[in-house]
Amino acid sequence: MKYPEVRNYINGEFVPSITNRTLDVISPIDGTILSKTPLSGPLDLDDAVAKAQQAFLIWSKVPIKERVQVFYRYKALLEKNITALSELISEENGKTFDEAKAEIEKSIELTEFACSLPQMIGGEILEVSRGVECRSEVCPVGVVASIVPFNFPSMVPHWTIPNALALGNTMILKPSEVVPLSAMRIAGLLREAGLPAGVFNVVNGDRSLVEAICDHPGIDTLSFVGSTKVAKIVYARAASKFKRALALGGAKNHLVVLPDANPSMTAANVAASMSGCAGQRCMAASVMIAVGDCEAIIGLVCAEAKKIIPGKNLGSVISGAAKERIENFITEAENQGARILVDGRNVIVEGKENGFYVGPTVIDQVSPGMSVVNEEIFGPVLSIIRVNNLDEALAIENSNPYGNAAAIYTQSGGMAKYLADNASAGMIGVNIGVPVPREPFSFGGWNDSKFGVGDLTGKSSIHFWTKLKKITTKWNPEAGINWMS
Ligand code: NAD
Repeated sequence: MKYPEVRNYINGEFVPSITNRTLDVISPIDGTILSKTPLSGPLDLDDAVAKAQQAFLIWSKVPIKERVQVFYRYKALLEKNITALSELISEENGKTFDEAKAEIEKSIELTEFACSLPQMIGGEILEVSRGVECRSEVCPVGVVASIVPFNFPSMVPHWTIPNALALGNTMILKPSEVVPLSAMRIAGLLREAGLPAGVFNVVNGDRSLVEAICDHPGIDTLSFVGSTKVAKIVYARAASKFKRALALGGAKNHLVVLPDANPSMTAANVAASMSGCAGQRCMAASVMIAVGDCEAIIGLVCAEAKKIIPGKNLGSVISGAAKERIENFITEAENQGARILVDGRNVIVEGKENGFYVGPTVIDQVSPGMSVVNEEIFGPVLSIIRVNNLDEALAIENSNPYGNAAAIYTQSGGMAKYLADNASAGMIGVNIGVPVPREPFSFGGWNDSKFGVGDLTGKSSIHFWTKLKKITTKWNPEAGINWMS
């Protein structure tokens, strides 16, 4: 094992789990065992929640301007350690070093946003009646939990950690059990930045731990990011325990390409969107809808896809099971009559024969109803559907159950606005293949890509991580008696 066993992080200390269930942490790059992670149980969670409750009593009373000082220092630590953090992400997740570095850069941006929260959360005040003023203030919710997926071991935890903590909550993070190493580094750097013990805790585990988190009476609010199937289960279970919850699910993102699109930019963007992070992004392009004659652009997309080489500028997928599943989707489409223009099956990377690689794949002549169109593949696979006009394209986009992102490639402002107005997705791109809103805008999809109200990041997160107190005051007796008295 390259790294020591993963530990939980509770009350400022790295501690072993009380259970002895463990899981090997395998690098998808070459199949080596990196470490072992504990699959913690309810007793570990009880301990973490008790410590987070104690810490909340003090942390929630620290003025926010003081709380964010920790995050100014933490941001500097992320910058100082960016190379080592990126290498670790790449090892445990399989993405390329550059993709991992971009993830840390985004984590830095998310931390910067949290540092600006004191300028954004001032409450309101108004004289609502003679001599009577009403003011509002935002208060932390309490102990919150953040359950995260495998595909961004740093960025997705940073969607929640800086904002939730800067706003005065204390947290239990449940990393994905397949990529638990980065969370330990995050905990260590937060401690180094001066975050008091108990404010941030990490409990490692799998499904049973998530269920215990949903049920735990000491956890007030829960955020989840992962697949739609699990998002639904977690959202319903947390709500049944009267918790505030926001659960982000999977995606099936459509890129609509019009014949007037800039060919080289479109082709490069589409190929990058479908293959970045080996297609394991909830914002990845999955279906390209070619409107009218886009033959030349499709040719260029294939040429761009062929420049993406597994093991060089394309990382691995997360596991052998994921590789098999993705390749089965491609074979099924082929058997149903689709044409494979670029085939990423059966890739072996020299020197990394035990790694889990799938090459970029472009499938043409796909029709609605095929499983490559209906299901989230989560691999570097682009399916092309051809239609005659934008309304047909929109009908396909709108009929898919997800709603994370939709994008259009065109030179026409009118066509772009028509798509933006009519696509049923939370995030829209115009000549942008991965339309992730940057801070202070909020990240969040629609439909089966998100359950709950509001978004998880940016300004919208303020409402999620806080509750509003309204204080009505009368100081002067001369104001007299009215119906408010
Ligand atoms: P996943 O749903 O399998 O796991 C997510 C988390 O839930 C993990 O921490 C895991 O331990 C836990 N979990 C797994 N099965 C569970 C169960 N049955 N009950 C309770 N908890 C369970 O997702 P993943 O494979 O880690 O991540 C990939 C998925 O996440 C994709 O569907 C992707 O689109 C989605 N994702 C969505 C967004 C978004 O913003 N909408 C962002 C990133 C990833």
